[in-house]
Amino acid sequence: MADFKEFGDKACNFAKNVADKANDAVEIQKIKAKIREGKHCIDDMYNNIGRAVYNRYREDIVVDAEFLSICNNIDEKYDEISELNDKIAVIKGCMRCTNCQAPINPHDAYCSKCGKPV
Ligand SMILES: [Zn+2]
Repeated sequence: MADFKEFGDKACNFAKNVADKANDAVEIQKIKAKIREGKHCIDDMYNNIGRAVYNRYREDIVVDAEFLSICNNIDEKYDEISELNDKIAVIKGCMRCTNCQAPINPHDAYCSKCGKPV
């Protein structure tokens, strides 16, 4: 009889362990979500530091030499994006300014970039 009781206790402990493990898994997922959220916040703060450094560079405030090439690369990417936007504008039917090659709307009187009459 003692063997049956022991078996019953073990089964009960096993069931309790399964429930505990399920609760643990849920708890771990909640904690992991908080860790991910914390990492996102840190990434945002890193982003803000980078933006602040780049803004200083744009305002001709001296930035550390190690950031200069990164800021230059950002400028190059902005130029690339600008050129790509120009391509879209041309595809959409915009004309180009004969003076500065900026895309212009046919119904504009002046180029918005250089001011040349269209
Ligand atoms: Zn122009």
